[in-house]
Amino acid sequence: MGEEIFADIIIDISHEALDKVFQYRVPFSLRGEIVPGTRVCVPFGAGNREREGYVIALTDRTDYNPEKIKTITRVAAESFTVESQLIRVAVFLKKRYGSSMLQALKTVLPVKTRVKHRQETTISLALTGQETEALLDEWEKKHRTARLRLLRALLDGGGRLSKEEAVRQCRLPLKELRKLEEAGVIRMETRVAYRDPFPQFEKKEVTIQLNEEQRAAADVFRRDLAAGTAGTYLLFGVTGSGKTEVYLDMIEAVLARGQQAIVLIPEISLTYQTVRRFYERFGARIAVLHSRMSAGERCDACERAEAGEADVIIGARSALFAPVKNLGLIIIDEEHDGAYKSDSSPKYHARETAIFRAGLAHASVVLGSATPSVESFRRAEKGEYTLLTLKKRAGTAALPTVRTVDLREEFRRGNRSVFSEELKGMIRDRLAKGEQMMLFLNRRGFAGFVSCRSCGTVLKCPHCDVSLTYHRNGRLRCHYCGYETTFTRQCPVCGQPHVAAFGLGTEKVEAALYQEFPGIRVLRMDMDTTRRKNAHQEILSAFARGEADVLLGTQMIVKGHDYANVTLVGILAADLSLFGQDFRSGERTFQLLCQAAGRAGRGDKPGEVVIQTYAPDHYAITAAVHHSYEEFYRQEIAYRKLMVYPPCAHLLVVLVQCGDESSAVLASVRIQKMIEKSQEGEKEPVRLLNPGQAAISKLKDLYRQVLYIKHEDAARLEELKSRLEPVLEKHPLFAGVQIQFDFDPMNVY
Ligand code: ADP
Ligand code: ZN
Repeated sequence: MGEEIFADIIIDISHEALDKVFQYRVPFSLRGEIVPGTRVCVPFGAGNREREGYVIALTDRTDYNPEKIKTITRVAAESFTVESQLIRVAVFLKKRYGSSMLQALKTVLPVKTRVKHRQETTISLALTGQETEALLDEWEKKHRTARLRLLRALLDGGGRLSKEEAVRQCRLPLKELRKLEEAGVIRMETRVAYRDPFPQFEKKEVTIQLNEEQRAAADVFRRDLAAGTAGTYLLFGVTGSGKTEVYLDMIEAVLARGQQAIVLIPEISLTYQTVRRFYERFGARIAVLHSRMSAGERCDACERAEAGEADVIIGARSALFAPVKNLGLIIIDEEHDGAYKSDSSPKYHARETAIFRAGLAHASVVLGSATPSVESFRRAEKGEYTLLTLKKRAGTAALPTVRTVDLREEFRRGNRSVFSEELKGMIRDRLAKGEQMMLFLNRRGFAGFVSCRSCGTVLKCPHCDVSLTYHRNGRLRCHYCGYETTFTRQCPVCGQPHVAAFGLGTEKVEAALYQEFPGIRVLRMDMDTTRRKNAHQEILSAFARGEADVLLGTQMIVKGHDYANVTLVGILAADLSLFGQDFRSGERTFQLLCQAAGRAGRGDKPGEVVIQTYAPDHYAITAAVHHSYEEFYRQEIAYRKLMVYPPCAHLLVVLVQCGDESSAVLASVRIQKMIEKSQEGEKEPVRLLNPGQAAISKLKDLYRQVLYIKHEDAARLEELKSRLEPVLEKHPLFAGVQIQFDFDPMNVY
């Protein structure tokens, strides 16, 4: 008979019940037909009532008495549902990124909160014309004025009225309405009323005609769609080239086939402006999902997607799991954005996961960016993705002129200000002309770190291995855990009164602006000024209304905002992101510079960009000056090949955390030994990179050790991880130690 096969099954897929897994035997006749995600019928509970459930895993061993395990009855009539698809995505997440099945399921399945939906009750007349006349006469004689008001209102309203109107306008209590319903005078019908999420927007007629480049790109997609070919596309278009218009056209083609689309946008650029553009094209057929929505609002959006009431779902990373039944297309705008990588377990990347989900549904994926990730561009180069290119800006606006200012030179000339002479001159010029500027700094707070000038001690957070940041209110803050303390000049180590703040922050630049340009109007946008719920939007709107000359901020100001009056973008210190210590620093710097530069000259007036830097010859900077992605890419990919970094190899991260430092070290050494042992005799073993202390060696009172494991073949890393997982979970040696996995990380640990 061969070995037996058992299935882990979840019966109820509400989040509270996801961890209640039941084991059943897979009957011989159904082997091969049942895979994770299959919906099956099983005998359940003491009475063996038939229930439906989803298979989440198959195993060949069981922890229970095999005698007592019941057998799956059959495959359910509708065996592959949206949930089936999402469960298969969860299996993928667990396998690729490493997490428990429960964490993976919680990530993909929509939260079904038991929110009460707003119900809408409609009242309609249940009588014939004659009967109504008779009743009108009768109630008039009996002076039933409230009832008469209702009857007349119903007749005026074409026989229908909402319950609220009946109660309020006719002053008829609900009790009376029920009586009339029982007497067969009226009918009352209750339906779920989904709120129109954007009553303030209007659907509009399409006025924009795609230009030649846009048309060509959209047509490649349309032809494939018509031919039934699904695939992955990289829409590589310079900033302002009109990528959104191309997306809209592609979505239209998908909707015309009765399919649905998911559009992912980095959370931070998911603004009213963006949503409005989609609403104007697709009206109430869109639904929006983002983290600032309440559970009820999210649930509403998911239900509308599942019911097919919404067929364009727009949202941040997790909208990828919107329960659309008839998926035709997933669009990922600004696909290079770091926000597409989840920072909690499973640490999935939306791009890879989207391609997997789309594959299950035979749907396509479109990745869009002006500065594609090195990963995506390489795949497009190798022909795995179809490359669609937009080289020109749409409309009349030209790309801005970009130049660098060497800060070392400025320093030599005795300029100690944060603004170079050149930038100062340009700011004065814009002030005189009444044009707007954006100044960009990749840091927040008043200063980078605080240290003692006498003994060199850097003031650190007592819970994290991170330096504290000085804020102008005289507080020192840890940006990782929120720890705060008062700033004092006295050094805790040497006792000298020489503690001072170093570096450059948005608050300091703001102060410098006021000092250098009296009367200048500045709006500052950073983590500190955008804590409140709508602060982000308010600042941007104020700037759009011309209430400030300068918008000063961290990277959050560089994303997708269109201001026609901005003619100058200044990047105050381009090197801050180059000094990051991981292999993506160059890529991140190049992307930031291009995105920031893309904000200049979006209107009729030409734009200028000034990049202040200590490293004007770094290829990430020179390529940005030349608006040349290819120039950047050629150098970057050579570096990645040389160092065998993604995309030329894959990286598996094992992060070991423990409140006790020696336990963390011991655990990571053991893992290292296990890995080395597992590779004995392998022809192409995985490579372990200097295991040891993480770059942030302590976070929230946990000591961190990290192992990076490298191999060209992702499957080899998956295999290694799945061999480690059960040991790390169950072995007493690892009790009390937290172990997390990551795959192709975006940041160093
Ligand atoms: P991207 O996302 O590539 O940066 P957008 O889609 O935001 O660019 O388009 C930039 C601007 O150009 C928008 O104001 C948009 O309305 C306009 N635009 C795009 N395509 C066209 C077109 N074919 N004709 C006229 N204007 C266009
Ligand atoms: Zn801290």
